[in-house]
Amino acid sequence: MKITNPATGAPLADVVADTAKTVRAKYERARRAQPAWAATSIRKRLAAIRKFRELAVERMPELARTLSLEVGKPIRQSRNELNGLTGRIDFFLEESERALREQKVFDDGASKTQERIAHDPLGVIANISAWNYPYFVGGNVFVPALAAGNAVLYKPSELATLTGMHIADMLHAAGVPEDVFAVVIGDGKTGAALLAQPVDGVFFTGSYGTGSKIAASTGRRMIKTQLELGGKDPIYVTEDVDVKAAAAGLADGAFYNTGQSCCSVERIYVHEKIYDDFVDAFVAEVKGFKVGDPLDEATYIGAITRKPQLAVLQKQVSDAKKKGARLLAGGAPIKGKGNWFAPTVLADADHSMLVMRDESFGPIIGLQPVADDDAAVELMNDTEYGLTAGVYCRNEKRAKKILKRVNAGTVYWNCCDRVSPRLPWSGVKHSGIGLTLSTYGIQTFTRPKAWHLRSA
Ligand code: NAD
Repeated sequence: MKITNPATGAPLADVVADTAKTVRAKYERARRAQPAWAATSIRKRLAAIRKFRELAVERMPELARTLSLEVGKPIRQSRNELNGLTGRIDFFLEESERALREQKVFDDGASKTQERIAHDPLGVIANISAWNYPYFVGGNVFVPALAAGNAVLYKPSELATLTGMHIADMLHAAGVPEDVFAVVIGDGKTGAALLAQPVDGVFFTGSYGTGSKIAASTGRRMIKTQLELGGKDPIYVTEDVDVKAAAAGLADGAFYNTGQSCCSVERIYVHEKIYDDFVDAFVAEVKGFKVGDPLDEATYIGAITRKPQLAVLQKQVSDAKKKGARLLAGGAPIKGKGNWFAPTVLADADHSMLVMRDESFGPIIGLQPVADDDAAVELMNDTEYGLTAGVYCRNEKRAKKILKRVNAGTVYWNCCDRVSPRLPWSGVKHSGIGLTLSTYGIQTFTRPKAWHLRSA
């Protein structure tokens, strides 16, 4: 399989992809190896994860460079991702023992009866991942899954393969047996070959289109299936905010990672009293973003990782213009080598336009004026997705009232595009099912087993 640099179109590497046969062999080895890993003490499993964290810190410059070359992510943002990974690992190191400990929930001396809940690992799981934050979306699964005693067959996106191989090298060097964590190399066909194995759980991060196919194929097998899918995440800006500060925060929330985040701000509703001022401040922010070589420390906007996305973005712009939106920045691919799209702002957008309905997953945003809070809530909920949503507003009571009515897995007050290891990460509707992170995101890799114990 050829790996190409999306920023230049130049070849980066040739790797050997897995076949149905090698995927089967990896599965069989994982199945044989998993019981011994589960029988290893949790302290030993966590020690391997701690060592993995150390290696990620030691090798950070090389890992960040590979990530930037492979997905076109600006180098500072690649380092941020790796630093974020270590923060998430710290959470799992701290919380796993407690979250996985067997609990006594009932103890009755008279009837000599005890009830306990044990957290058994699922067994062998498939972890099929996206390319946009491979250390985050992969790590949210394989770190707690390994901690809980599972074997993991990890398929990185074909667009983040080299990073997936680095992850495997580091986990093995850290003491996770090679058969307990195996990287499966390839594209969607290889992903389908992995799903054809009798795994005990499927943990997928990617698009709704692929996720719904996976749900259909695993549904009949009665295995745990988690799907972390896309979003069309809205923000509402009320009339009482500091306009410049809100515009700066939201421009970053929309354009960080070149807009290729599941929780990127994708739609902004602004109270009509400040709409014009907000639009001016927002456009000024976006025009200040430096677009360029992902390896340049000053770059903020990098390449579009998936080439076909350029056509999606172009279609959203032409559709919005045709229906009356004002194009205030960007609007087209940047000519030259590689995949580039100019940071794009469309004002006076509305819900007849694709840019306010379909996931953009790129450096483009629609802004729409609204008359009041009710109109904003209605528009925020007018979507097939429900990953995150937020409000920028001075008044806490008003913000909370609005956010209670919004149908999303995560809500933000005066912040956006933020993920915390301490909080569950989940979506509603087409944004998926299941969750990662938080203590729930440790226990999700286990099967709670109910013990009824009566001494004779
Ligand atoms: P994608 O659906 O194209 O691919 C995801 C993974 O599925 C890849 O590894 C791919 O090789 C594999 N795959 C493709 N077809 C398959 C099949 N038939 N069977 C098994 N595996 C198959 O998604 P992508 O382009 O990698 O990622 C972008 C999407 O991911 C966006 O929609 C984004 O919002 C979403 N995402 C969601 C989250 C979240 O936490 N909710 C996080 C990151 C990305």
